[in-house]
Amino acid sequence: MAVQRIGVVGLGIMGAGIAEVWARSGYPVVGVAESADAVEMGRAKFASSVDRSVAKGRIDQSTADEINARMTWSQDFADLHDCDLVIEAAPELMNLKHQIFTELDHHVKDSGILATNTSSLSVTDIAAVTNRRDRVVGMHFFNPAPVQKFVEVIATAESNVEVVDEVARLAESVGKYVARLADAPGFIVNHLLLAYINHAVTLLDEGVARREEIDAAMRTRAKYPMGPLELADLIGLDTCVEILKTIHASMGSERFAPAAGMVELLAQGHKGRKSGQGFYGYSQKHVPAESSNPDLEAHVYEVLEDAYLADARAMRDSGYASEQDIDNGMKLGCGLPEGPFEVMARNGAS
Ligand code: NAD
Repeated sequence: MAVQRIGVVGLGIMGAGIAEVWARSGYPVVGVAESADAVEMGRAKFASSVDRSVAKGRIDQSTADEINARMTWSQDFADLHDCDLVIEAAPELMNLKHQIFTELDHHVKDSGILATNTSSLSVTDIAAVTNRRDRVVGMHFFNPAPVQKFVEVIATAESNVEVVDEVARLAESVGKYVARLADAPGFIVNHLLLAYINHAVTLLDEGVARREEIDAAMRTRAKYPMGPLELADLIGLDTCVEILKTIHASMGSERFAPAAGMVELLAQGHKGRKSGQGFYGYSQKHVPAESSNPDLEAHVYEVLEDAYLADARAMRDSGYASEQDIDNGMKLGCGLPEGPFEVMARNGAS
């Protein structure tokens, strides 16, 4: 049965963006959050993104009105009853995901597919609280969801193949490149990305370089759209630390033990852009620093890039994902100019 009506639970950075993906593509969407305030914040985020598209001339006002009209906003899970697919995008906490999936299993019709946008938690574990484990998958979008063209579709050992096919087809039908993956910590992108971000914070903690030098190194040398600390602020330090903790608990590698600098900022309530302060302050527009110390930046770039390429090679060698999916994940999910295997090919390595 084709998906016709879509629900989104959690209307933060990701949920509002995921709702926009579907509403723009013509689907009626029910957006649910836990309180009237949270719903209102989600609605405002959604509306301002659509308004920005009008201001930039990408869509006209009547198209924007149609997109807005496809949305139903609610704080009642019962309003998700008729949805064929519900995508959960609540904070990255297993207890909360369990609570939400228990509710979803209760309210959403039996034929409905439940998907989680989790970045790193076990989809198998999330599905375990439902009575429809065969109809639970991971559907991992990237930030901002309407822009980034990559989606990781995660099948657990219990996911029905037809359900996974349907979800993958649906994502492809709205222009996303889909990597179909097994349930493993961090999937492709967060596994590689969070190790890299964490490594960058470690260099900061150890006093190897200042935050501006670390970010400038990757912007100017690797031509990344932003530096690793700027990226951590964009993703949210709370999300970064939760992802790292999960991967660390599952894999044990010290590369994923959350770096002290990030944990300390978080303990002070600094979550990055969304709280106005992270590695940088956001009360004013953030202006990326220019390159100021080329030799040091060359060193930072080499250290970070070598470790990242080694991680990508190890992932490929483990058989978890193909070079093409890994390259596309890093380009289409994170906006990097090249995938790690393209970098290696350019450097004559493999
Ligand atoms: P966020 O903190 O911006 O938003 C979370 C939303 O969930 C908020 O709207 C909050 O009100 C809502 N919420 C909290 N409790 C709820 C409940 N009981 N029921 C319904 N809604 C509830 O978080 P985010 O960055 O959008 O992340 C959401 C999920 O997406 C996480 O699993 C995260 O790992 C994943 N993710 C995040 C990013 C990113 O770049 N931020 C990228 C991909 C995936």
